[in-house]
Amino acid sequence: MALTLMEYRPTKVTLNLTELCNCDCRYCYSYHSSTNFLDIECAKSAIRFAFTNSVSSKKHFFLRYYGTGEPTIAWDLLTKTVEYTKSLSQKYNYTNYGIHICTNGVMCQSHAMWLANNMSGINLSFDILEEIQNIHRPAKNNNDTFDIVYKNAKVFSKYNNNTMFRTTITKHNVNRQVETLEYASKHFGGVPIIFQLLYKVGACSTKDIYPPDDINFIKKFIAAHRYFIKNKNVQLSYSELRDFPLENFEHHYLTLPFSVMPDGSIIANFGQSQNLEYKNVFKFGEWNPNNLKFQIDYEKMEKIKAICSKIFSECEFCSCNSYCYRDRSDIFIRKENNKLEFSLGKVGCKISREIGSYYNSILSNLKN
Ligand code: SF4
Ligand code: SF4
Repeated sequence: MALTLMEYRPTKVTLNLTELCNCDCRYCYSYHSSTNFLDIECAKSAIRFAFTNSVSSKKHFFLRYYGTGEPTIAWDLLTKTVEYTKSLSQKYNYTNYGIHICTNGVMCQSHAMWLANNMSGINLSFDILEEIQNIHRPAKNNNDTFDIVYKNAKVFSKYNNNTMFRTTITKHNVNRQVETLEYASKHFGGVPIIFQLLYKVGACSTKDIYPPDDINFIKKFIAAHRYFIKNKNVQLSYSELRDFPLENFEHHYLTLPFSVMPDGSIIANFGQSQNLEYKNVFKFGEWNPNNLKFQIDYEKMEKIKAICSKIFSECEFCSCNSYCYRDRSDIFIRKENNKLEFSLGKVGCKISREIGSYYNSILSNLKN
């Protein structure tokens, strides 16, 4: 039963402008299976919908450009939709909003400067050490990307005070976490850094690149975190956890994120949306170009919520419950007796619990 959009009132929207990318990262989970660009009317409609929900509810409006591809490849679409958001802000005299982008940083410096000036936040995927960046994140033509991303990282960190770097940890750099922070501290001042573990999901599941041994990762992450505590010129977080515990927060899987893909479909989980066989499991709506409206499937939405509640049912009794974002991409789907079964990667939970328990020990020391 497809109901109207009126009953779904998100104030945050994620736009996936394209699946195309100028990089060929060795751990990329995207299949880059489509050459579509998001329809500009669909993009504007999504922004308008979430923005007006925000105006009426007074909840913060948040626009995020995110990739199954590189958003800056769709430069015209990106700049036009940012301008459109600003025009809505003027029209409604409403400034309670933010625009963030996740980018690989492979672009000319004038584009980098434009992002620095026009984004409220920049999340740069950058593996920081030259050798690691060039191994992990080559350009599409197989060229090294370190030099260009380094220069743009300088622009972002100098001109946008809400820039952070997201660094993926694999077997190649697990033992170099402290060194990575030392380098960042020397070259980029106090830019916050998020270490993210490689997950073998989507297209990455068949690639020749591997996550580190979990115990070694935990040990080396904690050493890096201790370095951060001593050295105030750098900040470090783990991608799956908050730095401080928070009780009674609402998990996004219960509200279902409004994430629009380049073909206009609305999906609730990026990692699995990239698993081609199960591409539509988390899809709950789509853009209708004929009437220029989104069609939401509310029955499907409820099914997805039920799946997520089941997947995350053990969280209630988990020791790192109040730290964990529960925003994991390592949700595994398999078919058993013609029924889909879902499960969360156990290694990911084990790592989160260990790091959560380390965070707790810091907190107890602070209190004493
Ligand atoms: S920049 Fe992002 S989308 Fe592009 S190949 Fe790398 S991980 Fe994939
Ligand atoms: S570590 Fe796993 S079980 Fe624990 S709260 Fe996070 S997702 Fe849930």
